[in-house]
Amino acid sequence: MVNHGVVLDLIEQLGRTPAGSTITLDVASGASDADEIADNVDMIATWCRASGNELVESRSDAVVVRHGRSADVLAGLDPDQVPGTRLWMYTNFDCNLHCDYCCVSSSPQTDRRALGADRIARLAAEAEQAGVRELILTGGEPFLLPDIDELVATCTAHLPTTLLTNGMLFRGARLERLRRMDRERLTLQISLDSATSEQHDAHRGPHAWERAVAGIGLALDEGFDVKVAATLPAEQTHEVAPFKAFLGTLGIRPENQVIRAVAHQGAADDGIELTVESLIPEVTITAEGVWWHPVSATDESQFVRREIFPLADAIADVRQRFVRHRETADRAADWFPCS
Ligand code: SF4
Repeated sequence: MVNHGVVLDLIEQLGRTPAGSTITLDVASGASDADEIADNVDMIATWCRASGNELVESRSDAVVVRHGRSADVLAGLDPDQVPGTRLWMYTNFDCNLHCDYCCVSSSPQTDRRALGADRIARLAAEAEQAGVRELILTGGEPFLLPDIDELVATCTAHLPTTLLTNGMLFRGARLERLRRMDRERLTLQISLDSATSEQHDAHRGPHAWERAVAGIGLALDEGFDVKVAATLPAEQTHEVAPFKAFLGTLGIRPENQVIRAVAHQGAADDGIELTVESLIPEVTITAEGVWWHPVSATDESQFVRREIFPLADAIADVRQRFVRHRETADRAADWFPCS
């Protein structure tokens, strides 16, 4: 038999609860068996639908009800932050460098694990259909691939594309591949960590700085839009202003200067901790599958799924997990108040 007192209890408790917060209500107390508990839950679900409140969770002996409806988690993001707005693709994982804070542990000895032309072509086409607005190719060092110009052409045929590189390999056949790339639809993002060679080379290897600076100059001279991305260890954060001034002298516009901290991922011994709970996801594809974010594309705790295709399903999966994480965090906050 339905216990109408449960609903009265619920109304009273919700009346004392701020909009958007949740309460946990005992639905087993006074019930004689499981059927009676189920009837109570059904009645509460019906009442929630009729009254504009949200039944968040139903357990064997309790329900969690939100006063009103949950905010739209995705609507609360900047449009550029909505997962699936940008699609990251790891073209390969091997690299000519062996940086000591590489977030995916790349090096000359790292297995290539190439995503491959066929998958990149299908991803670029499906990304356009799925509403992705930008493709981003990263590695490893993409210029190690003999077909990197063709991979880029495949991507720029569909969407504006950014190609991440350490900028050190623009010679010989690799320079010719660079010269074949689309200057209208492609941005090159080159890594450079400091205004002088000491800090950059300390983490990336001897002469890496001078070759990266030369690569930036060459790319600009070739007519490419160039971003510079710096990874700053904690001891370098006071050097941001002079570093930005230096980038200005190289011809890098302020909006093309990306400066971020070292993340505790991959080869890095320390750095900021980034988890699925703290990171807004950016859908990332590797040869192994779909990952939460490019900074964590070898961190098993941030692996999303093995199936890459259909891409729209992979994007939907990441969005749903993100919404669930945020709602769980909200509920946890309600269940463990500070006073
Ligand atoms: S940080 Fe970039 S350049 Fe350095 S090893 Fe990793 S992929 Fe290569």
